[in-house]
Amino acid sequence: MSRALGFTANTLIRLAEERDGDTLAKALGHPAARFYLSGEGRFLARGAEEAPEPAFTLDEARRLGVNETEATLLGWTPGSHEPRFAAALPGGFAPEEGSLLDLRTLGMRGLLSPDIEGQLAQALHFLNWHHRTRFCGVCGGRTTPEHAGYRRRCLECGTHHFPRTDPVVIMLVRDGQGRGLLGRQHHFAPGMWSCLAGFLEPGETLEDAVRRETQEESGISVGAVAYVASQPWPFPGSLMIGCVGEALTTDISVQDSELEDCRWFEPDEMRAMLSRSHADGLFMPPDYAIANTLIRQTCGG
Ligand SMILES: [Zn+2]
Repeated sequence: MSRALGFTANTLIRLAEERDGDTLAKALGHPAARFYLSGEGRFLARGAEEAPEPAFTLDEARRLGVNETEATLLGWTPGSHEPRFAAALPGGFAPEEGSLLDLRTLGMRGLLSPDIEGQLAQALHFLNWHHRTRFCGVCGGRTTPEHAGYRRRCLECGTHHFPRTDPVVIMLVRDGQGRGLLGRQHHFAPGMWSCLAGFLEPGETLEDAVRRETQEESGISVGAVAYVASQPWPFPGSLMIGCVGEALTTDISVQDSELEDCRWFEPDEMRAMLSRSHADGLFMPPDYAIANTLIRQTCGG
């Protein structure tokens, strides 16, 4: 199920356990090494409009001012074993108009192969983590990347810091008549509705996170919960964990200030929203997003 979603088809072989102090230099010396270059959360690409090409050679990256000793080795391509890297563009980098592309926009337009989309999602997650882990959470000292970017070490106290992933539950809650519970956040585009979602809290199971978030946002009590699929979501570093839940109650009270509105939708109405044929112009998130998959699976759209 997860394979049909955006950012999930990354084929790179990561070999995290085999990395050491020499891995980065060796991989940088490979003639087919390629770099994905990011500035302010967006990726540099040639031919941005029709066929964006986000991979650059080491020489090209250097000419753009990239410091390759801080690059993260994402992994090697299967078969040809060509290294792929993520690196940050230097501060003050002035891109040509339209050459920096947002990963969500790329996903929505479907202009890249699913494999490359997945590699860029891995790249963005790593770059976000490096940027936020420049200082040690234990002693406040500076940290430096090791193992070709797969961990950081504090230069003061020696603590190793490993990349983190923040789990988010996203759920379609159904009632006994097959209706689905959807919400609207204030920042959504007009007419868009989606599944309820929220961060997993410390010491909580996935199932309890689904129940708590649904209760907090809609006042609906949820019984049985089942896992459906997951999706990397590097904005800045999450994994979306898609579930379905069975509602025990049906009276909605919107209590969460994040939500502008929340209501039940009939299966017919959800199908119309998926196919963008709803009479009132209501619609769902795009099909690369896990909310779309959960709704589609539930209403047969
Ligand atoms: Zn430290």
